[in-house]
Amino acid sequence: MSSLNIISVRPQWQQELAQSISDPTELGAFLRLPESWTAQNQTARELFPLRITRYFASLMKPGDIHDPLLLQVMPNQAEFEQKEGFVADPLEEQSGDHAGILHKYKSRVLVILRGGCAINCRYCFRRHFPYQDHHFGRTQLQQLVELIQSDEAINEVILSGGDPLMANDDQLFKVITALEALPQLKRLRIHSRLPVVLPSRLTEELARRLQVSRLQTILVIHANHPHEVTNTLKGALARWAQHDITLLNQSVLLAGVNDSADTLADLSEALFDAKVIPYYLHQLDKVAGASHFAISDERARELEQQLRARLPGFLVPKLVREIAGEASKTPL
Ligand code: SF4
Repeated sequence: MSSLNIISVRPQWQQELAQSISDPTELGAFLRLPESWTAQNQTARELFPLRITRYFASLMKPGDIHDPLLLQVMPNQAEFEQKEGFVADPLEEQSGDHAGILHKYKSRVLVILRGGCAINCRYCFRRHFPYQDHHFGRTQLQQLVELIQSDEAINEVILSGGDPLMANDDQLFKVITALEALPQLKRLRIHSRLPVVLPSRLTEELARRLQVSRLQTILVIHANHPHEVTNTLKGALARWAQHDITLLNQSVLLAGVNDSADTLADLSEALFDAKVIPYYLHQLDKVAGASHFAISDERARELEQQLRARLPGFLVPKLVREIAGEASKTPL
């Protein structure tokens, strides 16, 4: 047997992931950013590492330190500012009976399937989350099954993270198979930013597996700016839509990134072109290190009004905030 026959080839998305950028200087050079600006900001990587796929970096405008995609991932000096009300665990998730399983909502249970992400978003409300304490393995899968069986109100499982699509297909198939065996479950929801930052993750194999599942699948992607909705992403999502997978998007309102009605309207239009319904527009969760992204509730409501005046209702995402301990998201 030739050696070629025994080498297992990693899927393209994993090969691309292995080429990710984690050094601000490398990102600065890739985008031809001013060296002084990169040097001044890079210390903030101590607070939360830089991580970005080359695909996502390629969507940024070279030389532009205000690029809305760059601002979402580049460490920034402003992250050292300590502002009242901005805390490490804004949604009070870091304690719980079952590591990796959050029974936050009555009928839904949320699973931290994978700690890592393909990019580290500077505004992430889980940027201080102790993922190392929330490994999801065979024991946790059994705990999840038992938790669901103990509460007949649960009819939906949300795979979250980190990013659940960082798990490989084998791991996902095991979880899907275990959940399908529970008659009370109706839906499986996958919350992932991977489609936007690494569209090659939307593989045909995974889509086919989800299509044959008796659970209805909803993929909630996470795009914040119209530049993230590329033709590559549209093509990948169109293929997934053909497999009966419902596509939704959630965004976070971010100062300097998408806090204008023009940008948000363009985002909704681009998403709909990609067969995705704009679902939620979140006010920023007050996580330590992200206060420079915050905009006031008054401004957020103003933006929503402007969107209502410009777009059909189905293209206006619900403006919400998540409040620790509340059973659902709270409209603003
Ligand atoms: S992909 Fe999602 S979970 Fe990961 S860093 Fe970004 S916002 Fe946070």
